[in-house]
Amino acid sequence: MIDLTLTQALKKLQSREISATELTRAYLDRIEKFGKELNCYITVTPERALADAAESDRRYANGTARPLEGIPLGMKDLFSTKGIRTTAASRILENFIPEYESTVSQKLADAGCVLLGKLNLDEFAMGSTGTTSYFGPAISPWKLSEKLTPGGSSSGPTSAVASGLALIATGTDTGGSIRFPAAITGLVGMKPTYGLCSRWGCVAFASSLDHPGPIARTVDDAALMLSVMAGHDPKESTSASQADEIAASLKAPLTPLPLKGLKIGVVKEFNDVEICEDMKSLWMDRIKDLKDSGAEIIEVSIPNIIDGLAVYYVIGPAEASSNLARYDGMRYGLRVPGKDLVDTYKKTRTAGFGEEVQRRIIVGTAVLSSESYEVYFMQAAKVRRMIADSFDAAFGQCDLMLCPVSAGPAFPVANKLTPLEDYALDLFTGAMNLTGLPACAVPAGLTKDGLPLGVQVVGRKFDDLRVLQLAKHLETFTALDNRPTTVMGE
Ligand code: GLN
Repeated sequence: MIDLTLTQALKKLQSREISATELTRAYLDRIEKFGKELNCYITVTPERALADAAESDRRYANGTARPLEGIPLGMKDLFSTKGIRTTAASRILENFIPEYESTVSQKLADAGCVLLGKLNLDEFAMGSTGTTSYFGPAISPWKLSEKLTPGGSSSGPTSAVASGLALIATGTDTGGSIRFPAAITGLVGMKPTYGLCSRWGCVAFASSLDHPGPIARTVDDAALMLSVMAGHDPKESTSASQADEIAASLKAPLTPLPLKGLKIGVVKEFNDVEICEDMKSLWMDRIKDLKDSGAEIIEVSIPNIIDGLAVYYVIGPAEASSNLARYDGMRYGLRVPGKDLVDTYKKTRTAGFGEEVQRRIIVGTAVLSSESYEVYFMQAAKVRRMIADSFDAAFGQCDLMLCPVSAGPAFPVANKLTPLEDYALDLFTGAMNLTGLPACAVPAGLTKDGLPLGVQVVGRKFDDLRVLQLAKHLETFTALDNRPTTVMGE
């Protein structure tokens, strides 16, 4: 049952070949069996899951089933869930129980999803390997004995979906946190256009860069999930007015995008970035597949795209330092009493935030200080604009773009990276957050050692549908069996 994709599971549920309760129990059993080892869940909600599943079975029986009725879902623990602990993988929110539900989790619940639990991540989504989590790193099911990273910051979501501990999962992508982990675990991860999925109720990291999105095993599944997650939200000031229309366009099964004459841009500046041999050959293979199918490959230039990484690490921390100011021990979560108010703030924030989060707050505060504001923050804002303008110009020459997601495959969580090495993992992804463009990571194949790698399709704003359609072609070329055999066991 665990082998079913979202689309296949829905069919079997609809035909009553399987029940939502059976399906949910199958996932709960696996969480019980492998959850500890993979460390992908921070909180498991079996009672809620079984209650949701029972409701789904009632709805299938009485003909009121909703679009994702009975589908077992894992939520990145950054989405607030009413009455269910929401930690952002931070000690400061270790015991925080929200009084409200995020828009995205509400939409998935309203569509009939069964909530299995809350998934691990890097603390406040800051990181690329899952290792900044207060709850310890999640592990990839690929080559389990090597304890590889499932990527980050959506480490729990990709670990869980790749290993059959959730059928689908939500992620968030601020600089690559959906696409990188999806790529190195053989999954599909979509960062939609900025504003398509509401950020309301999602623990804020960097508000102008944060994008909720789906993580699934196939492009069809990601599209279907996105059709439910997306939509205009009056509660969220940057929610896109077109979001309902786009969501509606994703509801129907994806039709094949004609490749003949389609112009696909590859970014010239990325050619100079060193990538591993396996990535090189998979990249060439996928380009060849596209050419053989009649697409035209065009080199485009985004002159400042490499600087995007530095820009991201100025703007991201700046916004984070402001967003995280609310954790002062007064309103949310942990409080460590000090001798006076300021001392309480200091003690609380010192004990509550991990090293990487503290580093971001310090960098962010520094770049926003009066001495540095012009040279760092304003400069970064200008280069961000230039990158967006270059993308606009490049989309005058091509319909969609194709980029690598990472330079190489997953590595052991025990590998200690320096902060700069960690930041460099966002080289291929961060620019799409700065610009808000839709980008979908899709498997490109396996390395010689049998580890997955991905490529990403990038589109114009609100061209999410075509991004997914092209991703589907790439998925077909690769025909990757994206289930690692190690944890499948049975
Ligand atoms: N690795 C990036 C960071 O640490 C991206 C994180 C994300 O997308 N949430 O900031």
